Amino acid sequence: MATASILSRNHQVTIVAKNLPGDEPTIEWASPWAGASFIAGGCFSSREAKMQLDAFAELWRWSIAYPESSIKQITVEDFHEDKTEADIWWKDYMPEFRFLPWEALPKGAKVGTSYKSLILSPAIFLPWMRKLLENTGVKFKRMSLESLSDARDLGHDVLINASGFGSLKLKDVQDMDVEMVRGQTMVVESNYNKIFMYDTSRTYTYVLPRLDGTVILGGTRQKDTM
Ligand SMILES: Cc1cc2nc3c(=O)[nH]c(=O)nc-3n(C[C@H](O)[C@H](O)[C@H](O)COP(=O)(O)OP(=O)(O)OC[C@H]3O[C@@H](n4cnc5c(N)ncnc54)[C@H](O)[C@@H]3O)c2cc1C
Repeated sequence: MATASILSRNHQVTIVAKNLPGDEPTIEWASPWAGASFIAGGCFSSREAKMQLDAFAELWRWSIAYPESSIKQITVEDFHEDKTEADIWWKDYMPEFRFLPWEALPKGAKVGTSYKSLILSPAIFLPWMRKLLENTGVKFKRMSLESLSDARDLGHDVLINASGFGSLKLKDVQDMDVEMVRGQTMVVESNYNKIFMYDTSRTYTYVLPRLDGTVILGGTRQKDTM
């Protein structure tokens, strides 16, 4: 939907998918299960960093313009065992950024940061964004593809594959660089109001308050268990 929101400014866009925003969560797609918080980092190039910052700026704007989207501003406390201050490229970009003092770090952490970020509830955000796109002319079509070529009669000039881990199984894609990682989370009732993230690079522990009286606790990283 993010791609469609940009392209639809100049083109007619139809989103074709088996699972659509508003559907009940199933294990076939990731989006309904996300926290979903914005945590800066995890980039391999300056281009990726720019994409991340552009997305953040737009979502920040939406958190003010569209409170009904469920996007809310929230403080993040983010700790790393495998990073030092020199690795924190986002320190000059995130609102209210500061390094946390040594005494505030959990045992084992080498760096801790605090900044203002964003949280949203996928169950609200996904159908809301679908409606936003539909109002600008984007169409949604439910269709299950065995191959991308199954879509050849839809009358398009360009087809963009944004099928998540569907790219592993689509017969004319079979992208073996896609890696399945199972992440398990728990939703609990709580009014805790800061994101906590602790990353060792092998495991991560997080608390993601949706600021609606619920908090997501996680998480696990299990490779190849689907
Ligand atoms: C537990 C958990 C917590 C997460 N928390 C966060 C977070 O806090 N912040 C964050 O940024 N990210 C988070 N993520 C990651 C985030 O959810 C994903 O990066 C994001 O949802 C991927 O979106 P997507 O549209 O690319 O893929 P998906 O949401 O998986 O959507 C894929 C789409 O392709 C369609 N599709 C696939 N194959 C086919 C086919 N053969 N035919 C037709 N349609 C097909 C599906 O139906 C679906 O519509 C989390 C993920 C998990 C699992």
